[in-house]
Amino acid sequence: ARVDNPYEGAQVYVNPDWSGRASQGGGSAIADEPTFVWMDRTAAINGTEGARGLRAHLDTALDQGADLFQVVIYNLPGRDCSALASNGELPADAIDRYQTEYIDPIAEILGDPAYANLRIVTVVEIDSLPNLITNVAPRETQTENCNTMKANGNYQKGVGYALGALGALPNVYNYIDIGHHGWLGWDDNFEPFADLVMNETVTNNGASPEDVHGFVSNVANYGVLHEEHFDANTVIGGRPVREASDWVDWNRYVDEVSYAKAYGELFSQRFGRRISMLIDTSRNGWGGADRPSGPSSSTDPNTFVEESRIDGRIHTGNWCNQSGAGIGERPTASPEEGIDAFVWVKPPGESDGSSEEIPNDEGKGFDRMCDPTYEGNPRNGNNMSGALADAPLSGHWFQAQFSELVQNAYPPL
Ligand code: BGC
Repeated sequence: ARVDNPYEGAQVYVNPDWSGRASQGGGSAIADEPTFVWMDRTAAINGTEGARGLRAHLDTALDQGADLFQVVIYNLPGRDCSALASNGELPADAIDRYQTEYIDPIAEILGDPAYANLRIVTVVEIDSLPNLITNVAPRETQTENCNTMKANGNYQKGVGYALGALGALPNVYNYIDIGHHGWLGWDDNFEPFADLVMNETVTNNGASPEDVHGFVSNVANYGVLHEEHFDANTVIGGRPVREASDWVDWNRYVDEVSYAKAYGELFSQRFGRRISMLIDTSRNGWGGADRPSGPSSSTDPNTFVEESRIDGRIHTGNWCNQSGAGIGERPTASPEEGIDAFVWVKPPGESDGSSEEIPNDEGKGFDRMCDPTYEGNPRNGNNMSGALADAPLSGHWFQAQFSELVQNAYPPL
């Protein structure tokens, strides 16, 4: 039987492949922290250059005496439909290949009795369901690929299949991605996303609601846990910043803890049982000299928010290799009411995408949101990308970013 919070009392597997790079790259203070293993293409199951395969990871976890193993399931057909940096290997219609060549072999390995005593936490297919809410017609933010995926239903079918196949294993804890506060935090998105999960996903293609243990927010993103100096309802110059500041722009949430808790409550109601919530804190520290130490004294709502916010991005829609970011809270079980764990899903130091076109055989495209000279699109309010220059392909080691993340860690290292 599954426990309520799998992180409680658990020693979590440390990926030696990441650990070695982190310690060599000036991160010895954090190199023994647990990070997720990403099954980011079919070849990853058996191992790729610089990354051992799934079985080898699980065997190493047993050697470490770990209680808990963390893995990201990330290979849907037509993957990453609103961006190009992590387009995957499977075309939009390849749902059968996803099931037989990718999910089935993973389920078989995870189901090996040798691993029955490990709690296995899976993050199932980040960005996919959130994209079906915001990046489709008739919205201005729509992309052709997201319209295609919405029409063919293969995200819901794929996620359903993964939930069902992995959820059949009694030691697997499936978590679904909820994007982050700067994505689904608006009223137009928040409940419609819950409807998409409940009505089209958790009973689709072999899944049942019992296959879902919880949800995870902020995966590979940069939103802060707490905007310490204001929330959406803070009144400045006679008006709440929610309506009066361009940064908040009518969002109900300005940070990740308030957002994840709100979804925890909503999904607990919808599922009729307690739903577990995780937050990725690998790169949301925003320490360093630019971190505001208190609220601004301005009575202009925009100036107030600009001078008070800890999130140092140009816009909350920016997601690629953000300049100025730092390592966030270290992975912790039960860090605060309503949150089961802070986790490092995105391994710090691994790029979000290349800043110029780089030919490759990983299915990775070039997304201009990773180009520091790019002036943006409707999905980031037509702002500058805020990305660091000279970045390698997504998933590849980006030493300059890692050094900056270590430098700007908060809490400091
Ligand atoms: C990449 C994956 C990589 C993951 C973790 C994603 O953006 O597409 O290849 O494994 O990040 O770094």
